[in-house]
Amino acid sequence: MKSLSKFVLIFGAMAMVACGENKEEKNNEDDFTIGDTQSSETSETRQASGDTEEAEDGDVVEITIEGNDQMRFNKEEIRVKAGQTVRITLKHVGEMDKNVMGHNWVLLKPGTTVNEFGQQAVKAKENDYIPEDTDAIIAHTELIGGGETDTIEFEAPEAGTYDFLCSFPGHYSVMKGKFIVE
Ligand code: ZN
Repeated sequence: MKSLSKFVLIFGAMAMVACGENKEEKNNEDDFTIGDTQSSETSETRQASGDTEEAEDGDVVEITIEGNDQMRFNKEEIRVKAGQTVRITLKHVGEMDKNVMGHNWVLLKPGTTVNEFGQQAVKAKENDYIPEDTDAIIAHTELIGGGETDTIEFEAPEAGTYDFLCSFPGHYSVMKGKFIVE
């Protein structure tokens, strides 16, 4: 009886130690994760910018914008800084097919309105609603369906306010917003 309670005591103490170790390990892991993310971002920035001079001036800004089955973007405004490399990920968080609820993200040059472009885009079904004979686009993603994502990268244009939209038929009246370069 005496030895049993001793055993329980020791076992209990061991369990506590093990518990403490686990906690510590978990904290360390979190630290490493943060560290890794930072270092990989830095190296990607260098790769994207090419030579070192550019790497000092420009940095990469990562933005995720979501489109859903309710025909909405989750952002109406995106802000970046001139000279930044913009990496935009469009994420379709819905489930519907791209033929029914397709989304893309199209950034327009000044001088073309969302309505004008949207009406042009309807006629470009064979090219996923991106008109081929236009010079009104700064950048655009692919057309995607539920569960899909697409990431594009481009240099932020000069300071100003630009329009973005989804060019799938009928979507531009609500799926639009401002892309502001400061
Ligand atoms: Zn759409």
